[in-house]
Amino acid sequence: PKTLRLILGDQLNQQHSWFRTVDPTVVYVLMEMRQETDYAQHHIQKVVAFFLAMRHFADELRQAGHTVTYLTLDNPANTQSLPGNINELINLQGFTKFEYLLPDEHRLDRQLVELAASLPIETGVADTEHFYTKRDDFAKRFGARNFIMEPFYRDMRRKHGILMESNDPNAQPATGQWNYDADNRNGLPKGFVGPPAREHARDVSDIVQLLQQQGVSTMGTIDPARFLWPVTRSEYLDMLEHFADNLLYAFGTYQDAMAPAEWSLFHSRLSFGMNSKLIAPREVIDRVVAAYWADPERISYAQVEGFVRQILGWREYMRGVYWAKMPAFAHLNFFNHQRKLPHYYWDANTRMNCVHHAVRHSLTYAYSHHIQRLMVTGNFALLTGIHPDEVDAWYLGVYIDAIQWVEITNTRGMSQFADGGIVGTKPYVSSATYINKMSHYCTGCQYDKAKKVNDNKGKPACPFNSLYWDFYDRNRAKLEHNPRIGMMYRVWDKMQPADKAAILQQAQTYLAQLESL
Ligand code: FAD
Ligand code: SF4
Repeated sequence: PKTLRLILGDQLNQQHSWFRTVDPTVVYVLMEMRQETDYAQHHIQKVVAFFLAMRHFADELRQAGHTVTYLTLDNPANTQSLPGNINELINLQGFTKFEYLLPDEHRLDRQLVELAASLPIETGVADTEHFYTKRDDFAKRFGARNFIMEPFYRDMRRKHGILMESNDPNAQPATGQWNYDADNRNGLPKGFVGPPAREHARDVSDIVQLLQQQGVSTMGTIDPARFLWPVTRSEYLDMLEHFADNLLYAFGTYQDAMAPAEWSLFHSRLSFGMNSKLIAPREVIDRVVAAYWADPERISYAQVEGFVRQILGWREYMRGVYWAKMPAFAHLNFFNHQRKLPHYYWDANTRMNCVHHAVRHSLTYAYSHHIQRLMVTGNFALLTGIHPDEVDAWYLGVYIDAIQWVEITNTRGMSQFADGGIVGTKPYVSSATYINKMSHYCTGCQYDKAKKVNDNKGKPACPFNSLYWDFYDRNRAKLEHNPRIGMMYRVWDKMQPADKAAILQQAQTYLAQLESL
């Protein structure tokens, strides 16, 4: 008897129990396929990162004594579809069993369930042994109740005894306080120069050439001679050490800060490593918690709590929402937004300095940090009423860490509020005030951050300012009863009718010129 075990590109978990013993009757298969390069228009660095990570992973398995079949994109035997390749392999090599790991994406889950049902041989499915939670834990926990992140996160802290005073199920946090958001989130001081980004540069010309030869359509740019992203487990362990030693101490403080010359600041850049499962969330959390206990003078509790919250809280929470709400989630459009994303999401060619830099970082590095995604590109798309399908397609393509379970919940949910409030309790929108507070963008901008309406003197008004009020005004019926928003309507209602009319008129003018802002 021979078993065929499938490993998807985001299932590169070397610690998995599958690999604990070498079994000569088991063949592992990894495949580069057009069905994966083409389901979205991906950033070229994202495709390169996945293919490279898969190739290294296959080599490491072989070195450990396992038998591996690896189908490159240009292998003539590659049917370019998952069921096609698996059926071919089974027919040609006479496997008697097919096993796969639970995929994290709904699309692949459906495909594999159907494939397994259609195969004439025994099939099996195993957990990826990566997350803290199981797929359906979340739906069981919340049932029909509202999904709220904070209680979920507190339960996770208690359940796993992370930063708690003891392992008792009713224990309190080690410092007596759960949430340090108020201590975090400063803007950068003037003239601030951030730490250099950790790089793992390598030449990837051969893969870039392969993608070109095969006609794979991608977005963004790449320097094939100097690809910076880590793609192996040991490189991600190095990234984690680097983060714990050199960045964690200021992570929370500057978590929301943005500056034109900085692309990753004190962020960990571990998302691709975790999402491809090269590194486990437990390893990351254990390491940062150990760094805190080892040196609480240098690394304050607020920094480490802020970081743990992202992974133990947000990351697991988004996965839970995804499995509880898909596939319907992918069609939600609470505001019925219909516009198309303007061209500058693909070429960064806009006079809005904040959007220019956030998009430029995204196209250059296949990365931007959370606040650039949420409060610049996401905020602008929401204020201008872009269709969530358009916004999702862009986010799913552009970021190296974009896999649907964590992309769509963040984009359609947290950022676009297209779910009407499943993920977030209110839409994340802001005028220039917030962007100016958290960034150095506004000083170099061709728009005036302080103006809501053009007055034909000096710089034109920042588009965010009028669009912000227009957003609230046009969505009044949907938002004014939200207890977290009511105050904004009271501010709006107190403005002079002529001022309000001028702001709404300005917003209409800008919306009509969306492509040329
Ligand atoms: P750090 O700031 O160092 O944070 C550490 C880790 O926390 C991240 O690696 C990530 O695993 C986790 N994390 C932080 N915030 C979130 C969050 N909101 N949801 C889930 N995990 C979180 N993250 C993705 O992994 N893939 C995506 O496709 C993705 N799309 C996003 C789209 C939008 C519109 C927004 C607002 C956020 C998105 N995020 C996504 C969440 C977050 O922006 C990225 O995880 C983060 O920027 C990755 O960089 P980092 O590893 O340096 O993160
Ligand atoms: Fe962005 Fe407006 Fe500031 Fe310019 S002035 S950087 S458009 S927020």
